[in-house]
Amino acid sequence: MLSVKASSVGEMIRANELLSETTEFPLHLGVTEAGGIESGTIKSAIGIGSLLTRGIGDTVRVSLTADPLEEVRVARQILNILSPSRVGMDIVSCPTCGRTKIDLISLLAAFEAAVDREGLRDLPVKVAIMGCAVNGPGEARDADIGIAGGQGDALLFRHGETVAKYPQDEIVGVLIDELKRMKQPHD
Ligand code: SF4
Repeated sequence: MLSVKASSVGEMIRANELLSETTEFPLHLGVTEAGGIESGTIKSAIGIGSLLTRGIGDTVRVSLTADPLEEVRVARQILNILSPSRVGMDIVSCPTCGRTKIDLISLLAAFEAAVDREGLRDLPVKVAIMGCAVNGPGEARDADIGIAGGQGDALLFRHGETVAKYPQDEIVGVLIDELKRMKQPHD
C-alpha cells in the first residue's frame, strides 16, 4: 500500500495519477490537513472523488479538524455517493422555492439528526425529502421512502406508492418508523 498525501488538492490528484501510472501497488487516498468540516469535506470530496471515479485508489482517509467520527461519516458519504451498489443511506432533498409551504430546511435537519441518533445511516435505502406537491411526488416515488410537502403537511410515499398524509410535526417520526421497519429483515 502506498500513500502520497498533500494539503493541496491539485498536487494530491497529480501525485496519485503519476503513481497509478508507474506502480501496481494499492493506493491510499487522502487530502491531508484539509481543514474544518466544511472546507475539509469539499477538498476531500474533490480530491478523493475525482480519483476514485477514474478507478484510481483502493482505500481512503478523510482528515478533518473535527471529531474523528465526522471523518468517518464524510468518508462513508464519499464512498456511498460513488458506489454503484449503495453502502449507506442516500438522502435527496430539494433546495426549496416559492412553492414550499412546509419548513423543509428544519425538517431535513431534524430527520438527519434522528437518522444518526437511531443508528440508521448505514441502511442502504434512498430517501427523498421534497418540498411541494408539484415536483416532489416524482422524486419521492422514485425513492424507497419519500415525502412531498403540502400546506403544513406532507404526503408519504413508500416504494412508489402513496401511503398517507401527515402533519409536519409527525413526519420525522413517521419516516424513522418506516426506516426501522425496512431495517428489520436485515438484522
Ligand atoms: S420540489 Fe417543489 S418545492 Fe422543492 S424546489 Fe422543486 S418546485 Fe420547489
